[in-house]
Amino acid sequence: MTHWLKLNRLQRKVLLVILAMVVVPMLAAGVGAAGWVSSYFEHRLAQWITEASRVDQIWLKAYQNDALMLGDALARDPQFVTLVEHGQPAVVRPPLRHIAEELGITLLQIYTPGHRLLYSSLPVRETPSWAPGQRQAVLKVRYHGQNLLAAVGIVPITGPAGTPRRYLVLGSLVNRDFIQELAQLTGLTTRLYYRAGSHYFDLFSRPGHLLPLRNLSRMAWRRLDHDKKSYYDVRAETGRYRGLYVPIVDSEGRVEAIMFSGLERRGFDEFVTNRAVLFLAISLGGLIIGGAAGLLLSRLVVRPVEHLRNAVMQLAAQDYRAAVPIHSNDELGDLAKAFNAMAVRLREVRDEERRLFQKNKLAALGELSAALAHEIRNPIGVISTASALLEKSPTPHKRSELLRMIREESLRVSGLVQDFLQLSRHRQPSFADLDPASPLNGALATALADREDIRVTKEFRHGHARIRADGPLLQQAWGNLLRNALEAMGKHGQLWLESEVEDGHVRLAIEDSGPGIAAEVMPRLFEPFFTTKAQGTGLGLSIAHTLVEANGGTLTAAMPKRSGARFVMSFPLCPEGRAT
Ligand code: ADP
Repeated sequence: MTHWLKLNRLQRKVLLVILAMVVVPMLAAGVGAAGWVSSYFEHRLAQWITEASRVDQIWLKAYQNDALMLGDALARDPQFVTLVEHGQPAVVRPPLRHIAEELGITLLQIYTPGHRLLYSSLPVRETPSWAPGQRQAVLKVRYHGQNLLAAVGIVPITGPAGTPRRYLVLGSLVNRDFIQELAQLTGLTTRLYYRAGSHYFDLFSRPGHLLPLRNLSRMAWRRLDHDKKSYYDVRAETGRYRGLYVPIVDSEGRVEAIMFSGLERRGFDEFVTNRAVLFLAISLGGLIIGGAAGLLLSRLVVRPVEHLRNAVMQLAAQDYRAAVPIHSNDELGDLAKAFNAMAVRLREVRDEERRLFQKNKLAALGELSAALAHEIRNPIGVISTASALLEKSPTPHKRSELLRMIREESLRVSGLVQDFLQLSRHRQPSFADLDPASPLNGALATALADREDIRVTKEFRHGHARIRADGPLLQQAWGNLLRNALEAMGKHGQLWLESEVEDGHVRLAIEDSGPGIAAEVMPRLFEPFFTTKAQGTGLGLSIAHTLVEANGGTLTAAMPKRSGARFVMSFPLCPEGRAT
């Protein structure tokens, strides 16, 4: 996992772009979708609760309607009416009795117009509270010590003058089971608040307690009690439910009960109807999708690029083992293949170069050894012959002549060896800031110490420019050039010393009035042991060349302005020197 999260710069950029591309539209969509989904869902919930609660109302109404229907039938039965009028026990004869049993109408009561109970089929006690002319009611009754409700129909039995002489109250007892039955039928929590005076109470929710209907706004009361219309509340019953209050209106237009059908608020409903939560969920989803897409893209595209970058850097550091893994058959795969082929070719070229270098090195070593052996062989030959002659030499003059020869030739060999050593192994330069002309001036002073016949013309135009170099090593290089110049000029020569600054470099030139360098000599000038002089070692220029390069400069033979030989040294300026 951490492997995935370790992103390089390119991967981070890709991820950010993808996130920006996904998150911004996702946030906008989140706001819209959250609003739409929650209001749509809330609307559907309200619709469903309204539909389902209608079933509750119909059931309750059905009891009352059935009771009324039966009551009307009984009120039209002359035999029943006669019995009732004479205060006889109200015998309901078949088939009406069967119909009553089928409809679940168990309560039959007969009242006088003054609300005096004459007869009751069940031992219920109640306070009759219906108004004259009222046809339906939900009454609170006491039955076997229990508080119950009765959904009843009220039918007057009128006398000959048309005035009510008796009241028939027929109906069913509504108990806790009835309410639970309704709840099971609709899947909603059902509560029935019956009316007592100006208040409404729930009899069944908590057995033994009368729960008043509370927490309704003034507007809700107005709608229920005054307008007699149902009222939907998303936070009903102290916020536990979303539900519908329906007024049960009697035939006189009086609200006799309020039926509540509600759905408990919880879980998923709350989630989808809460805009903030929904918005967060959609946005989070967008973030996760965007992040995953970004990571995937970075893995598919950026990873191969990263491999390629690493391999290129490896190659730049001259590690020719660099290779890019080929994971795909697309353009990136082609690029990886091409890179690998190039790395292989470079490796081959490098190996070839090494072989060639080794070969050339050995050849050069052979040449150098041959040249050195050749140079040493002559003086050694002279020394060996002279020493042999020395033994037999009769005269002191001859002996001293031979000894001089031996000394001279040994000095020659010793000089040769010293020069040779200098060519191959001069001391490590120790750099310092210096005036580029000072090593030349130092070498000139030494070279011309006993040469009054040489004229020197100086044209130094480098101002205060300075270089970083090892003064004594450069002085030695200038010394070799000056020695060659003096040897070439012979007596009464002239030297021109010049300097100038150009392109961040200082160039110092020395030109003599000698015969100059022949065109055929030019290409071999800096070759070790190349000399045109009888007593030359051919190492002077090679050593000078090596010393100048060790100081970060270059030494070249240049086209002379006059007729002699011209050599130029060039050095990069110190940054401070460049500024002045
Ligand atoms: P050496 O002086 O021992 O011959 P160098 O390496 O110093 O060895 O010089 C190589 C050759 O370059 C010389 O033999 C000479 O032919 C030529 N040369 C160098 N400097 C000059 C010069 N100033 N004028 C003419 N020829 C020169």
